[in-house]
Amino acid sequence: LASLRSTATRTEGGWLLNGQKTWSSRSSFADWAFGLFRSDRDAQRHKGITYFMFDLRSPGVTVRPIAQLDGEPGFAELFLENVFVPDDPANPAESGVIGEVNNGWRVAMSTAANERGLSLRAPGRFLATTDRLVDLWKRNRTEVPAAADVDRRVADAWIGSRAYELSTYQTVSRLAAGGQLGMESSINKVFWSQWDIAAQETALDLQGTDAEIADEWTDGYLFSLSGPIYAGTNEIQRNVIAERLLGLPRGDR
Ligand SMILES: Cc1cc2nc3c(=O)[nH]c(=O)nc-3n(C[C@H](O)[C@H](O)[C@H](O)COP(=O)(O)OP(=O)(O)OC[C@H]3O[C@@H](n4cnc5c(N)ncnc54)[C@H](O)[C@@H]3O)c2cc1C
Repeated sequence: LASLRSTATRTEGGWLLNGQKTWSSRSSFADWAFGLFRSDRDAQRHKGITYFMFDLRSPGVTVRPIAQLDGEPGFAELFLENVFVPDDPANPAESGVIGEVNNGWRVAMSTAANERGLSLRAPGRFLATTDRLVDLWKRNRTEVPAAADVDRRVADAWIGSRAYELSTYQTVSRLAAGGQLGMESSINKVFWSQWDIAAQETALDLQGTDAEIADEWTDGYLFSLSGPIYAGTNEIQRNVIAERLLGLPRGDR
């Protein structure tokens, strides 16, 4: 990420943004987007980057929706050509700069920690999935071969969703008391993305061959497969856990 090439150039009353950003979730229909832009080309990689909010209807913005496997335009690719973003000391409320100029890396790390550690996957999502899974299990459990081990897997999903809820309460309490999110967000991210795939696979196994025509679970299963990729891939999160939390030596790259 630090090798990004999109740029921000000072102009009268603000900045001009130029560049391109792909896989921007929901930006096919959103009003605003954020992005990182290199604002000082002479600074070292992680420095000289600024975090901007910009209006997707500004002149110079092109939003090109990307259709997913299911045909929905969940993402877009954004192209920016001399897009003006205000940043006038006389009117700070209108400024599109989040945090400080040239300090965007720090803001981005905070965004990422919140995304992985708290805000992206609410426990309610998993509690609701668990309720549906338990209903499905009650209806279908006797028809599933013992080798599928569904009793244990449903129990695991139930325990995992409750544990995730309690862990989220703990994180929120910590933040309310003035604490901060840190590297432990990576553990959280690996947990919720793996939980989701396991629960969705269990639901498919509970339906046998009918699963192929049961839209609600098929959609959930397909989306769960992207969990280990977005918000930073799980391989990278495991590197973070190993090196920065556990202090293990770096592996070969
Ligand atoms: C559903 C979804 C929503 C998304 N939404 C957004 C969004 O809103 N905004 C946005 O900017 N992006 C978004 N993305 C993009 C996402 O952030 C990237 O796809 C993700 O960070 C991985 O980057 P990459 O695709 O460039 O893969 P790469 O970095 O090229 O990685 C490819 C593979 O190599 C592995 N790998 C790479 N480096 C290492 C390493 N050092 N050690 C071990 N393994 C490594 C990765 O784990 C991965 O398996 C979204 C993606 C998905 C799937």
